[in-house]
Amino acid sequence: MSTVSSLLEQEKQTFMERTTGSLAQLRRMAVTLPLGVASAYQAQPPYPLVYDRAAAQFAWDIDGNKYLDLHAGFGANVFGHGHPVIVAALNEQAQRGSHYAHPTKALGDYSAIVCDRFGLQQMRMSNSGSEATMEALRLARVFTGRSKIVRMEGAYHGHHDLVLMSMKPDPAQVGDLPRPGVQPATEGLSESLMQEVVPLAFNDSETLWKVLQEEQIAAVIIEPVMCNLGMIEPQQGYLEEVRAACTATGTVLIWDQVKTGATLSWNGANTLYPDALPDLHCLGKTVGGGLPVGVYGGRRDIMSLISQGRADGYGTFNGNALTVAAGTAALQILDQASYQQLEDWNQQLQTALSAIVEEYDLPAYVAGCGAKLGIFWAKQMPINYREYLSGVNEPLAQLSWLWLANRGVLGAPGSDEQWTLCTVLDYEQDSQQLLSALTSLAAALRA
Ligand code: PMP
Repeated sequence: MSTVSSLLEQEKQTFMERTTGSLAQLRRMAVTLPLGVASAYQAQPPYPLVYDRAAAQFAWDIDGNKYLDLHAGFGANVFGHGHPVIVAALNEQAQRGSHYAHPTKALGDYSAIVCDRFGLQQMRMSNSGSEATMEALRLARVFTGRSKIVRMEGAYHGHHDLVLMSMKPDPAQVGDLPRPGVQPATEGLSESLMQEVVPLAFNDSETLWKVLQEEQIAAVIIEPVMCNLGMIEPQQGYLEEVRAACTATGTVLIWDQVKTGATLSWNGANTLYPDALPDLHCLGKTVGGGLPVGVYGGRRDIMSLISQGRADGYGTFNGNALTVAAGTAALQILDQASYQQLEDWNQQLQTALSAIVEEYDLPAYVAGCGAKLGIFWAKQMPINYREYLSGVNEPLAQLSWLWLANRGVLGAPGSDEQWTLCTVLDYEQDSQQLLSALTSLAAALRA
């Protein structure tokens, strides 16, 4: 594997030659936009591609390069780009106004669809996944009269202060498991908030039981499958233990399904872990049909704190007419049959990817479910953040991203993301492009 650094250099060079327009545009934009982007996550090395347009499963950068888009807008676009049903719904709505800040019948219809699909008794829309986790955590605090929250070390739950703790902490700074310290992910967070957050390791139900029994915890917030550290599945029985511990101690269990909802299956992780269902769900990304969205909801007795005036639930753009139109159309497109198709493709791809890993003896594992999958550059699936950190080969992850991008396949950057399939793939052709690009990488690594 000593070739990794020279291949990285070579691919970086190729990338820069192919994308001179992106770099020039980014430099211009960096004058008015920090890092030249709208969200710091977009500023991944060597630099982000500046998009020109997208259609179906493809996207084009401003240099005219065409990509099979498995980045999918950080995993939102399971329906592809510019889906005619979504475009028609948006056109129709735009002509009748895009924003009212008044309830509409369409909002009621959308909420009924989402509640039915994800098993929510009541829900409220917000404008981002971050707002959804913020509101859900606040509801849990009001409901329990407690303030501390448990979160899994290394997880991402958005960008409000309470969850910007222990996102990707430095183990040398926070100490060992099972009870690591808290580390803020940014400057500017109140010191006192650090006392409110208890980070624990994913897949460690024993410590979770102990903490919930010994301390007053308002909520446990958790991704049922961790999708911001590659893909980390829960071990057999873990999520059920989390459910049981929350029930036994009156702690509100929140599933952050911003990424897993409407991607892992028709109703996200619900079908996969029916005996571990939470009190509140947070949704985002896919359920907005490509428009900004968040949804939080679940048990009526918790959600009704809003009707009682005990918890907020505000937002000028909550239930925005365009988001509702696009979200409704997206959920119509993404029916049960779509997920069957996605799962079939996913399984076929995983088999083919695993064969490449085996043939070339790559230090990688393959995982996936529904619309989400990837080849992850660690020898085996980690069980938590610490294992992810010690196992992942960052240079290889970066090489793999560059190698694929230079061959017209765009994944989400970084070792912590996965690919998102869309329903409008031309599977034979698109999978061939992905697999032959990866095979050539594997061959180059072993040359
Ligand atoms: N939770 C999870 C699991 C996420 O992956 C994200 C976004 N990547 C969020 C919350 C925040 O969503 P948003 O970016 O829409 O605020």
